[in-house]
Amino acid sequence: MYYVLLGAPGVGKGTQASLLSDYLGIPKLSTGDILRKEINTGSAIGISVAKKIESGGLIIDEVVIEIVKNRILLPDCSKGFILDGFPRTIAQSEALYLMLSDHITKYNHKSSIVKDFTVIYLHIENNFLLQRLSGRFLCENCGKVFNEAIDVDVHSKGCVICGGKKFFKRKDDCLDSIKRRLALYQEETTPLIKFYQSKGNLVLIDGIGSVNDVFASIKNIL
Ligand SMILES: [Zn+2]
Repeated sequence: MYYVLLGAPGVGKGTQASLLSDYLGIPKLSTGDILRKEINTGSAIGISVAKKIESGGLIIDEVVIEIVKNRILLPDCSKGFILDGFPRTIAQSEALYLMLSDHITKYNHKSSIVKDFTVIYLHIENNFLLQRLSGRFLCENCGKVFNEAIDVDVHSKGCVICGGKKFFKRKDDCLDSIKRRLALYQEETTPLIKFYQSKGNLVLIDGIGSVNDVFASIKNIL
């Protein structure tokens, strides 16, 4: 069982990846988390990535591929895994096919990439995403994320997690910055959507609705 979650910022990709991970009992691998871990443990890759980030450079495909490749060899991935934040480019997508076929050979000879690899594309119209992202605010104390459209009484009642009453908006949740992030995301992802569509691995899931509604749609396609 191999899954990739694709979706724009604000679509709830991380949340759904975690739910799916609990439900299937396979790990969720976020490239952000793996990179941070490599940096913290001071591995050779971690050191070179940290240098790149400090100098403001982009982390090249080869490095990200290497990191994912190493991570999926760990025993907890033997039954499969869910990728969040990878692949981001066609080169990474092609590398992933090779990794998966190696993985299948190693762990499960009866499996196949066509049957066992699903790219879940969580989709929400841009207008809704703009609304969702621009209404976002966080608890100053614990970082819990709320939304003005849904969590109307949080300001008076306090944070549901810690009871805190101070909240803030992230600087990059202003409209201009959100529009920029969405445009960038679309530019990056459109080729991937086409790529996976042509391979027959893509499933489109409507991202509108509650966390549970969306997860129910995901469970339907498993
Ligand atoms: Zn809180």
